[in-house]
Amino acid sequence: QFIRCTYAICGDRRMPWVQLAGHEGNFVTGDNGIVRKKFTPEEHNCLQLLMDDVLKPFAPLLIGKTIVNEEEFIEMRDLLSGFDPSVSVMDCKVGVRTYLEEELTKAKKNPKMRPDMYQKMIEVDPNEPTPEEHEQAAVTKPRYMQWRETVSSTATLGFRVEGIKKADGYCSKNFKFTKRKSEVMQVLRQFTDCNLEVIQMYIQRLKTLRKALFSSKFFAAHEVIGSSLLLIHDIKGLAGVWMIDFAKTMPLPEGVHVDHLKPWKEGNHEDGYLLGLNNLIDCFQNILFD
Ligand code: ATP
Ligand code: MG
Ligand code: MG
Repeated sequence: QFIRCTYAICGDRRMPWVQLAGHEGNFVTGDNGIVRKKFTPEEHNCLQLLMDDVLKPFAPLLIGKTIVNEEEFIEMRDLLSGFDPSVSVMDCKVGVRTYLEEELTKAKKNPKMRPDMYQKMIEVDPNEPTPEEHEQAAVTKPRYMQWRETVSSTATLGFRVEGIKKADGYCSKNFKFTKRKSEVMQVLRQFTDCNLEVIQMYIQRLKTLRKALFSSKFFAAHEVIGSSLLLIHDIKGLAGVWMIDFAKTMPLPEGVHVDHLKPWKEGNHEDGYLLGLNNLIDCFQNILFD
């Protein structure tokens, strides 16, 4: 399944605007080197904190706020702008779950039986519903939310590929059911064309990020949910990784500490971010040993 990749005209050259996730309406493109994303106070707060943290080199530079057609947008640096227009981009959503604990709590407060979610579930796996769920032809929303994370590599590897756009024109968001490590590695091979130098640069950058995370005040104080690593390389051999999408990254409640690695149990706020990062590094390293 292929997706349409949109192009924005920047100056006198065609610089591709690549959006691998989210609603198209959430972004306004146009100016060279700047990305505008629909404003949320949560994401703006995170980016502000990141500008004053050891993670600053791993986040898009925050430029500020702006209003377009009476709507507020966050202005940040377009991470593609330092690259040759022949970029390949991959969005990896990190963490063992992609919903906040409060979203699950809310869903559990009034757990109505949902026939629509039952339908979606059996389309993917007719054996997943319990006999009782089959009988009612419905599942609850929290049940559905928790199951959905097990369909991709999110629940097991702590990350999943959301989308890829390659310099050769290949473009896909069809990785919802890419689950096993061997399958994810195959996607990474395709993304990098098994270019060993590019893979080595990614490993190096991911390891530097991991080091920075251990000393980051921001990382110690936040539950990082639904955030992605954006991997970018071009045909000139430049490669880099940045953290993006902080709309669901929340300050941890008073007195709660996480190590981003322990298994998540409802209430402990663990996000599995480091599990995902370790596994991503591991996948790349295994490709080198092939
Ligand atoms: P979702 O929550 O569904 O993941 P979203 O609306 O929160 O989506 P983001 O994930 O922040 O949006 O971004 C969507 C896509 O836009 C990314 O996958 C990436 O391709 C592109 N993008 C976002 N921020 C930048 C940036 N600073 N530089 C370059 N590309 C970006
Ligand atoms: Mg995203
Ligand atoms: Mg998001």
